[in-house]
Amino acid sequence: MAEIKILVKGYAREENGIEFASSTATLIKDGGLNIIVDSGMNREMLLVNLVKENLSIKDIDFVVLTHTHLDHCLLAGIFGNAKVLDNSNIFSFDGKIDEHDGKVPNTEIEIIRTPGHDQFHCSVLVRTESQGVVVIAGDVFWWADEEKQKIDRQSLFEHKDPYVKDPKALQKSREKVLGLADYIIPGHGEMFKVNK
Ligand SMILES: [Zn+2]
Repeated sequence: MAEIKILVKGYAREENGIEFASSTATLIKDGGLNIIVDSGMNREMLLVNLVKENLSIKDIDFVVLTHTHLDHCLLAGIFGNAKVLDNSNIFSFDGKIDEHDGKVPNTEIEIIRTPGHDQFHCSVLVRTESQGVVVIAGDVFWWADEEKQKIDRQSLFEHKDPYVKDPKALQKSREKVLGLADYIIPGHGEMFKVNK
């Protein structure tokens, strides 16, 4: 079964009027494959934590991007041996574009469509032994560092996303993710358990 490790906990804050943000970067190990969901944009933090897992840039087989906002995807290109997946396609570094079938190739890791924050937003569903179903949900759920992370159902639905593109679609995506997940890894903030 797949194993999950959060390499970088996503953050979003303002310091002296300057914005700093990088998404959560998550490592999944499954059947000998190394998969990163969202590379984020903090190169140093990402590489330091990859080394702690005894991995180098070359060892990454797939990078899945929940959406193409640069705080989530800026570093995707550094993984030269990887293929990069979004909500519907697989991109290779020779320019080849394939479609995927809703799974990371050669795994049971699912890529599910969760539009709203962005029209082409997707989330990644992973079955694990220790935590059940974990959904890496990108910005379906995210918090700025100064916000309190309230995880009761009502607060999760009421939480405002200042960058939302389609509010109705976002609420549907939140409902979908909450229905599927035992644990959720947000785009920025702490992983949390879903109260069933
Ligand atoms: Zn984000």
